[in-house]
Amino acid sequence: APTLRFDDVTKDFATGTRALAGVSLSVSRGEFVSVVGPSGCGKSTLLRLASGLEGASAGTVDNSADVTSFVFQDPTLLEWRSAQKNVELVGELAGVPAAERRRRAAEALDLVGLAGFEPQHPRALSGGMRMRVSIARALVAEPGLALFDEPFGALDEITRLKMQTELQRLFQLKQFAAMFITHSISEAVYLSSRVIVMSGRPGRIVEDIPLPWSYPRP
Ligand code: ADP
Ligand code: ADP
Repeated sequence: APTLRFDDVTKDFATGTRALAGVSLSVSRGEFVSVVGPSGCGKSTLLRLASGLEGASAGTVDNSADVTSFVFQDPTLLEWRSAQKNVELVGELAGVPAAERRRRAAEALDLVGLAGFEPQHPRALSGGMRMRVSIARALVAEPGLALFDEPFGALDEITRLKMQTELQRLFQLKQFAAMFITHSISEAVYLSSRVIVMSGRPGRIVEDIPLPWSYPRP
């Protein structure tokens, strides 16, 4: 069964804006789906509905993942906590015993290339490193579904290229189901196994394109 399924979903905001209309899709484990389209076509709304942060106005959203993680463009780290403590937060909220969550957080930071940076506070880290902490925090919970809202949009080009490679490697390792919003077609094509193109107001899916390759990349 797919991890995520939208069936004929409409989203109306209280302001009267219809952000989505007639949206149907499904995403399964091992699929990395990019979502592209002009500003205002409902990409972020689609992700918020997928996460359960917002409810559909009509139609159904079915998210069967035990854990869903959301990564935003702004890494939203807690400035008064070290990198390690930022990643441990997830385990604290879930009641994971201290030793176990320390181990998992250190492992997640190692996976994103931040071994040795555990005690650093966010302000001491570069933009790319902060984004890595944010990704470690998302992946430490072993999500079945990971949602990315333009996570690399604020990074310089070199750092963005590094992060794309990094994320692809993590995805190959963990094989969650992923939805990734981006303004960059090349980023979509590089990262994903499928590209969803949205357009219009209200936003609709106008194309759903499987890419002719799969992981691992040749
Ligand atoms: P995108 O991510 O593609 O730029 P959004 O999902 O952010 O598009 O927005 C889709 C439409 O819904 C836009 O017209 C936007 O102004 C509107 N919208 C988004 N969030 C809200 C909200 N909380 N209240 C009212 N309107 C909203
Ligand atoms: P990133 O590509 O992760 O943003 P940068 O390009 O900013 O990293 O920095 C390049 C390298 O410099 C990093 O991989 C890291 O080894 C080192 N570095 C960056 N910030 C710090 C820091 N605050 N303390 C120590 N080393 C750092």
